[in-house]
Amino acid sequence: MTAPKPFLGNPQGTIAVLNQYHFVFQKKFGQNFLIDAHVLDKIIRAADITEDDFVVEIGPGIGTMTQYLASAAGHVVAIEIDKALIPILQDTLSGYHNVTILHNDVMKVDLEELAEKMNQGRPIKIVANLPYYITTPIIMGLFEKHVPLESITVMVQKEVADRMQVGPGSKDYGALSLAVQYYAEPYIVANVPANCFMPRPKVGSAVIRLTAHKKPPVEVQDEKLMFSIIRASFNQRRKTLQNGISHVAELGISKEQTVKVLEEMNLSPSIRGEAMTLSQFAEFTNRVLMTR
Ligand code: SAM
Repeated sequence: MTAPKPFLGNPQGTIAVLNQYHFVFQKKFGQNFLIDAHVLDKIIRAADITEDDFVVEIGPGIGTMTQYLASAAGHVVAIEIDKALIPILQDTLSGYHNVTILHNDVMKVDLEELAEKMNQGRPIKIVANLPYYITTPIIMGLFEKHVPLESITVMVQKEVADRMQVGPGSKDYGALSLAVQYYAEPYIVANVPANCFMPRPKVGSAVIRLTAHKKPPVEVQDEKLMFSIIRASFNQRRKTLQNGISHVAELGISKEQTVKVLEEMNLSPSIRGEAMTLSQFAEFTNRVLMTR
């Protein structure tokens, strides 16, 4: 059966649906719906969706992007937190027989289990116009929980897209930049102006594609420990690595241990985390483990 042509993705179609259901935008859920077909086409192309793909869409809204995804993919699971949108989605997606709508908070969904049950554990593609208030936890969660992923193609705030791509020395460099480097290859697909959304966001937006690495670019014996060290060093941004780490008791790494390992690595004992590369964090973690 062929899927119907998407009829959303333009201001008229969106306004008609919103009026029909007397929909009230919820600011707390970061609701900015896409109303531009060119941008939607670009996202679907960048995500390289084919009928072999199992796609998870985070926050389908009124189902605009879902229609585009369902026309191209094998199966789409759309996870939406706002109860008021569920009857709308059931309506706008009624012609598509390869869509499953889940009413839930994506942070509470076990996506690894979902991929296991619905896609036999094979890698999935994530595509979303993300709610900006939880972009970083969503992306970090996908990586750190080891959801089997092929790629993540998402609309994010422009600054967040930049943060995902930078290295040491930039003010935007942080735990997110390091997580992206460790798990994926980033590529900015497009900058998207505010008039492509309803209502218009106050910030600039960009679509970024993160293609999951088959193998991480550095070897680290305890990934979880490395990211705990990274977080500790960026929580205390202006502090030295040794102070940042010693503030987090659960890490169990003393100041003396940190200084000793930094010396072994020929790094200054007063180095800040923001000056360290991913491979230095990996080496630091491996050497700390050796001292235990
Ligand atoms: N995909 C739609 C589009 O492009 O028009 C809507 C995108 S809008 C930026 C973000 C959507 O995510 C909203 O529908 C919002 O209700 C939903 N959302 C916000 N927080 C969520 C969460 N924790 N879990 C699932 N959906 C969420």
